Amino acid sequence: MAAANKYYICLDIGGTKVLGVIFNSKREIVYRIKKKTKANGGDAQNIEDTIITLVEELLAEFKISIKDVAAIAAGAPGVINIEKGIVLFSPNLPWRNYEIRSAIEKKFHVPFFIGNDVNVGVYGEWKYGAAKGLTQVVGLFVGTGMGAGLIIDGKLFTGHLDKGAECGHMILDPEGPKCNCGQRGCLEAFSSKQGISDYIRTQAARGRSTSMAKAVEKGVFKSKVLKAAYDEGDEVAVEAVDRACHYLAIGCGNLINTFSPEMSFSAAVSWNRWAMFSWRRSLRKSTATACRLSAIP
Ligand SMILES: [Zn+2]
Repeated sequence: MAAANKYYICLDIGGTKVLGVIFNSKREIVYRIKKKTKANGGDAQNIEDTIITLVEELLAEFKISIKDVAAIAAGAPGVINIEKGIVLFSPNLPWRNYEIRSAIEKKFHVPFFIGNDVNVGVYGEWKYGAAKGLTQVVGLFVGTGMGAGLIIDGKLFTGHLDKGAECGHMILDPEGPKCNCGQRGCLEAFSSKQGISDYIRTQAARGRSTSMAKAVEKGVFKSKVLKAAYDEGDEVAVEAVDRACHYLAIGCGNLINTFSPEMSFSAAVSWNRWAMFSWRRSLRKSTATACRLSAIP
């Protein structure tokens, strides 16, 4: 139906799901699919199989052939060698030195590109979204963990061996809560959904009353549960969000003071969209005036 090389397939590979979209040549999303992964207990091959099935489903459901696809691109959590398309390490996926590019190219015979999900997310915002046209940008993606991406002098900065920019693991308190990375007191340990869940769980264990107790019993809360508790004025939930915003603001302040970006943004995951006021108020206290004026809207 379509002329050759007209569409692009993009994938967001996560620990629990893979999201796939088809873009047309005008960079408009024309089709999307979500598929669950079995990262916990699943093996490396399982994720690769999920990706392949998802691409095949996208093609079949949108009724195009792989010959209509110019390239497939993906973002995944972890340390990824962009040039070679090898996932060196991923905290949420069972991939270690996994040569995903060669596997996907062998299967579909189209170019495949993969990078750290937050790096490519910030690159996307810089190229086409909120930070378009700017040359110095800092982006933080607040989710289960905390990812960051930097645009420096009009280029995506990924550091030596593409291991940057893990700003979520800047230490804000060496005596602070344990982080998944092995350190203590990282920004992620305070301000990610994981960090907030851990805090609420600790408060509940101390006997404080909160409607969130069950939601954090075994893991990370769903954003709408926290929003409901916050809106009801649940003391522990309000305290947890204010604490997360306080540390997020200090982290952002450190980044603004270091890089003097034209724009710093936190990706609008649902829990922090409505907590933005608290974050912004704290941020004004956490940045040097000279840097603040250009970086905070
Ligand atoms: Zn950490």
